[in-house]
Amino acid sequence: MSVNINEYRKIIAALEPQKVTLVAVSKIKPVSDIRTLYEAGQLDFGENYVQELVEKQSALPAEIRWHFIGHLQSNKVKLIAPFVHLIHGVDSLKLLKEINKEAGKNNRVIPVLLQMHIAQEETKFGLDETELNELIAAIDPYKNIVIKGLMGMASFTEDTSIVEKEFKNLKAIFDSLSKHAHPALQPEILSMGMSNDYELAIANGSNMVRIGSLLFGRR
Ligand SMILES: *Cc1c(COP(=O)(O)O)cnc(C)c1O
Repeated sequence: MSVNINEYRKIIAALEPQKVTLVAVSKIKPVSDIRTLYEAGQLDFGENYVQELVEKQSALPAEIRWHFIGHLQSNKVKLIAPFVHLIHGVDSLKLLKEINKEAGKNNRVIPVLLQMHIAQEETKFGLDETELNELIAAIDPYKNIVIKGLMGMASFTEDTSIVEKEFKNLKAIFDSLSKHAHPALQPEILSMGMSNDYELAIANGSNMVRIGSLLFGRR
């Protein structure tokens, strides 16, 4: 049994008074581990791979809220559109349009977060601030998506001053979203912080953390 229930209870006790939502990141981990945490009271789980998410969703209780936190390809949106609770990693208009289309087919409004690139590492994923503003300006008043906020990942570094700077930067961008009066934009969620840096993320304004290895052990 690799699920660390004591750690789970500790994290929940710290998060609840601060109104921070815990997304338990269960990628690569078996259904039995998810069930253990679900039975301890956890409802929000995060997955990175579409096929794995679809299989787990069908094997587990329907009340579980599934967060897609990986990089989503447009051609796979239809597989998760019937049930996904929140899509964290949206960084293109093409993907937004596809989510809107598939959400419509399922008579749903799917909440999404736009992914920002705040870390030093080079990656193809995530928007910078200019791209974010361009994307928002280009969004039609889609009926079947709502942008609930932003998601980001800090640099992999021991240097907490760098991580803190990146979190502060993301929080400032999040706060600036209120300047856009766009009907598809309802900024409420700032998804930042993982096993290594969630406390620092919360201290800098995060209200949703994505924690995997602290709960389920190393992958
Ligand atoms: C895997 C993953 C996490 C969880 O990482 P841990 O360090 O195991 O807590 C959080 N967010 C994203 C986007 C991930 O891919």
